[in-house]
Amino acid sequence: MHCGVLALQGAWHAHLSVLGRLGATASAVRTPDELDNVDRLVLPGGESSAMLYLMRHDGLQEPLTRRIREGMPTLATCAGVILLSRNVLPDQPCLGLLDVAVERNAYGRQIASTVATIKLDDSLGSPATMEGVFIRAPRVTEVGPQVKVIGRWKEDPVLLQSNCILAATFHPELTDDLRVHRAFLDLKE
Ligand code: GLN
Repeated sequence: MHCGVLALQGAWHAHLSVLGRLGATASAVRTPDELDNVDRLVLPGGESSAMLYLMRHDGLQEPLTRRIREGMPTLATCAGVILLSRNVLPDQPCLGLLDVAVERNAYGRQIASTVATIKLDDSLGSPATMEGVFIRAPRVTEVGPQVKVIGRWKEDPVLLQSNCILAATFHPELTDDLRVHRAFLDLKE
C-alpha cells in the first residue's frame, strides 16, 4: 500500500507524519504521475479555492476525480471535504464526489477556530468522543442517504463516510488520536 497526500497547498505535511507514525508508506502528490503511483489519497485542509485552482492548473483535477470515482480510498479533511462535496456555499465549483452540501467558514473567522469534543458512533471504537481541531471549518448542511455520519459536534455532522471516502471537517492530523487515519488505512479498495 502506498498513500499519497495532495501537496499543492495547505496542511499536507502533518498527514505524512501521522501516516508514517502508523507505519504506512506515504509521499506528497503534486503531479498526475505522482498520483499514478499511489493507491490511496489524503486531501488536506488549506484553502479550497486555491487548491481547486492549482489542481486544474497542474492537470490533476481530471485524473484525481476519476480515481476517486473508481473507488480509490480517500481521506478528505476540512478544505478537502469542500472540494469533494456536491454543493458549496458561497457558490464555488466542486467535484461532486461526496453527497453532502457544505457552507464554507460557517463557524466564523480564524479567531473563532476552536478545539471541540466530537461525539462518535461506534465505528472507531472507544472512547466514544474525540477532540477535534476546527480551523475555519466548513459546516455540513445536507447529507445524502448513502453517507454515514460517524461523528457530530453538537448537532452538526463532522466525520462522515461514503464508500471509499472518509471526510472530516476538522483536522485529525493535529491531535494524537490517530483513529481517523487508522480508519483511512483500513478502507477497502
Ligand atoms: N476555510 C477554508 C476553505 O474554505 C478551509 C479551512 C481549512 O481547511 N482548515 O477552503
